[in-house]
Amino acid sequence: MNTLRLTPQDAPQAADIIAQGGLVAFPTETVYGLGANGLDPAAVAAIFAAKGRPQDNPLILHIPSAGHLERYCQNIPPAAYALARRFWPGPLTMILPRREVVPDVVTAGLDTVGMRCPNHPAALELLELCQLPVAAPSANTSGRPSPTTAQAVLEDMDGKIRAVVDGGPCQVGVESTIVDLTVSPPRLLRPGGVTLEELREAIGPVEVDEAVLRLMSTDEKPRAPGMKYRHYAPKAPVTVVRGDPAATARYIAQHLAPGVGVICFEDYVNLYPGCPLRSLGPQGDRAEQARRLFEALRWFDTQGGVAAIYAQSPDSDGLGLAVTNRLNKAAGFHIIDL
Ligand code: AMP
Ligand code: MG
Repeated sequence: MNTLRLTPQDAPQAADIIAQGGLVAFPTETVYGLGANGLDPAAVAAIFAAKGRPQDNPLILHIPSAGHLERYCQNIPPAAYALARRFWPGPLTMILPRREVVPDVVTAGLDTVGMRCPNHPAALELLELCQLPVAAPSANTSGRPSPTTAQAVLEDMDGKIRAVVDGGPCQVGVESTIVDLTVSPPRLLRPGGVTLEELREAIGPVEVDEAVLRLMSTDEKPRAPGMKYRHYAPKAPVTVVRGDPAATARYIAQHLAPGVGVICFEDYVNLYPGCPLRSLGPQGDRAEQARRLFEALRWFDTQGGVAAIYAQSPDSDGLGLAVTNRLNKAAGFHIIDL
C-alpha cells in the first residue's frame, strides 16, 4: 500500500478515507494517533493488525466535543461534564459506561469505553468532518515509543496505512491522562498532559492506580489492560537513575563505557563527551521533557552500536508523573535510586 502524505488542508480526503474504513494517522496535541471509524469492527481490527497490538488492549474513541458523549456512553456522571468543561479539548481521556453501539473490538469486550476530545486544529477538523467516533491509539508499532512527528509515524507505519496527516511536532509529547469515572473515587489509570493535581482540583479525590507506579506481573489483571504490556522501549535496555540531578548525572558519568548511551538534562550534557546522547531539556522544564522523551527513546534505535542506555529521572510532580511513568516503563522499571 502506498501511504499518502497529507497536510491539514487535506482534511476532507482524510475524512473520506476513514469513512471508507481506511486507516489515517493524524496529529493531536499529545502524540500522533492511528485513526479508524470506531463504529466499524473491520476498520478497528485493521488498527490492531497495523500496530501488532494485543487484542485485549482497548482503544480510545475521539470526538469533536462533549456534546457527542451521549451517543456512545450512558450513565455519565456529573464529574465527566465538569472535567470536559475544564479540560476539553485537551489531553484527558475519561473511562465511562459504553452504549451498545460501540463494538466489542474497540473496548476489548469491556462494558466501558475511553473517550477523548483532542486539542489540535487538524484533529478537530477531521473529527467534525467524519461525524464518527474515531478510534485512535498511538500510531506506533505496539511496544515502541509513541510517535510525536509524522516522520516517526512513517518509520513504523509506511506502507501499512492509507495516509498520514503531517501537522508538525506534537505540543505535549506524552499520551493523554486516563481517568476512570466508573469507580468511586475516580482512579488515575495513566498520567498524562492533565496532571493529577489539576484533576483533584477539578473533581476532588482521585486515586492513583498502582500500575502507574510499578511493574505489573503477567498474571495480575490490571484495570486498564494496556498497563501490563512492555511499552515505549528502545532496543537497548534502559536504566533509570533517580535522585538529586547533580548526583544522578555524576553516577552516569562514572558508568560510561563503549556502547553506553545517555539521556540527561541539558544542564549536564558536557559530562558525556563523545557519547550517544539525547538531552531532555533543562532539568526544571517538565513540559520540554515531555515533548522530547519519545523522540529521545526512538533516536537510539537509529544509532548503531548502542548497547545500554542510562537516563536521568525527572522528578514526578505535575507533568513529571507522566514523564517518569513513560521512562520507567521504557526501562521495564529498572531503576537505580541514589
Ligand atoms: P493508546 O491508545 O496506545 O494510548 O492506549 C490506550 C490506553 O487506554 C490503553 O492503555 C488502554 O488500556 C486504555 N483504555 C482504553 N479503553 C479503556 C477502558 N475501557 N478501560 C480501561 N482502559 C482503557
Ligand atoms: Mg500507545
